[in-house]
Amino acid sequence: MSGDLFAAPQAPRIPLLGRDSTFPVHRIYCVGRNFADHAREMGAPVERGTPTIFMKPADAVHLSPELPYPSGTQDLHHEVEMVVALGRDAKGVLKPGEGLALVCAYGVGLDLTRRDLQAIAKEKRLPWDVSKGFDASAPVSALRHIDDCGHSGDAALWLEINGERRQTSRLSDMIFSVDDVLVYLSGLFQLRAGDLIFMGTPAGVAALKPGDRYHAVLEGVAELRGHVA
Ligand code: MN
Repeated sequence: MSGDLFAAPQAPRIPLLGRDSTFPVHRIYCVGRNFADHAREMGAPVERGTPTIFMKPADAVHLSPELPYPSGTQDLHHEVEMVVALGRDAKGVLKPGEGLALVCAYGVGLDLTRRDLQAIAKEKRLPWDVSKGFDASAPVSALRHIDDCGHSGDAALWLEINGERRQTSRLSDMIFSVDDVLVYLSGLFQLRAGDLIFMGTPAGVAALKPGDRYHAVLEGVAELRGHVA
């Protein structure tokens, strides 16, 4: 026995604004239907219930401003979302109110979606992996450490495409708070330092086309700019 068969893949590393250190990504959890207006536009029931959770692979993180148009779809959609970054492991299942202590930074990202393939998956009751978990499906901004921005309870979240406002909301419109989602996730998974949570998108999701320029903002925290190649 003498080591790995090939070089082990490196975790994606996200820059932190104004700091030398980076954030190494462990897992990406995503919350679906967390804004009532978006759930309605997708024809989904608006229920308190429990959060809808899906995942993307860690290496779906995309940091370059040039976004490749993915294969296999004719209907790539943008979903602007707050991104929560965990700096500590959870010790087992969290109690309500214990979630924010795990958070070390916030950012803004796009939960890119092959909407045509997701529609087929919903109709046939199949998993969402091919519609949500593809390469470069998680463009994310540089992260802002909480020591520099605090916990942004009611920040504005918006997205412009080619200078035109497509999605706009406030974090207080989320059905499940960051604490709610972390408590729920901790009952299903071992939350770890390096985990990212995409918190769900408001109404206004629509197609991204080659050449489109995007500008996503979580006010007072972070912004993300790029274009579709
Ligand atoms: Mn989403």
